[in-house]
Amino acid sequence: MRRIWEIGEMREASRRARAGGKAVGFVPTMGYLHEGHLALVRQARRRSDLVVVSIFVNPTQFDRKDDLQSYPRDVERDRVLLEGEGVDVLFTPTVESMYPADFSTAVEVGGLTAVLCGAHRPGHFRGVATVVAKLFNIVEPDVAFFGEKDFQQLVVIRRMVRDLNFGVEIVAVPTAREADGVAFSSRNARLRGKERVAARCLVRALGRVERAVCRGERQASELVRIAGEEIAAEPLARAEYISVCDPGTLEEVSVVEGPALVALAVWVGNTRLIDNRVVTPPGEGFEEIGLRAVPGAERSKVQ
Ligand code: AMP
Repeated sequence: MRRIWEIGEMREASRRARAGGKAVGFVPTMGYLHEGHLALVRQARRRSDLVVVSIFVNPTQFDRKDDLQSYPRDVERDRVLLEGEGVDVLFTPTVESMYPADFSTAVEVGGLTAVLCGAHRPGHFRGVATVVAKLFNIVEPDVAFFGEKDFQQLVVIRRMVRDLNFGVEIVAVPTAREADGVAFSSRNARLRGKERVAARCLVRALGRVERAVCRGERQASELVRIAGEEIAAEPLARAEYISVCDPGTLEEVSVVEGPALVALAVWVGNTRLIDNRVVTPPGEGFEEIGLRAVPGAERSKVQ
């Protein structure tokens, strides 16, 4: 595996591969890799000839300085993991090269970023869209892989790619979970003692909502109440938002009539965790309502 720090060298390596007829697959990450990241890498390995993984803790997407400073990092460990997955290039640009002192451009995806995490983390998605646009321009991938764990991010990136005509295919990868159902997250490393067990309340809440939909509950307000009750029962947890919305537009729905995204952000101690699930009322085949492209809809469909 080759490690590249320089932007020009990265672009050169990618262009050379594509000139040789190779498909370039790209997995952008902030490092401190876990099974979720590796699920993306494995898909990339299967679907492309040159696999590029970037590790860049992007300062502009952090709305809190303490969160950026305490973000876990271990590039050496990450390098060994990626080597083991047969990755071709590890791209680790410096903050100075990505953001020169007079950097003054941003990519703003309207609408979709005003809700859910965007409503609670000012500037977060501007930072995400800008850095992903930069990385796409540097790596020029044919296909890029994003996790459904960060569902809003996935929807925002898809919109940016469509709106700005990036020539990259975006592939969504299902959320990888630990044995107890908790979604893998670099931030799980920050959970202390009982907080790790408390973190299970997110997936419990999603499970209760899914079962309620399966039993015939259609009122979003009731589904939000059920999820809220589950989070409130956990003394170490505090819900930041619970939303039932359209998986394509992220607009809240009042009645669940087709696939709906249930999204949560929950503070467990000082750590903010997110999780989501697409729920579909029984009998609401998304073939009929043309939502086949909704990431996660099929896998999460309630039978
Ligand atoms: P991050 O390093 O947190 O910026 O995440 C890099 C990529 O990994 C993003 O596309 C995330 O959505 C994805 N990812 C993070 N956690 C998971 C997970 N548990 N399952 C699948 N993908 C994930």
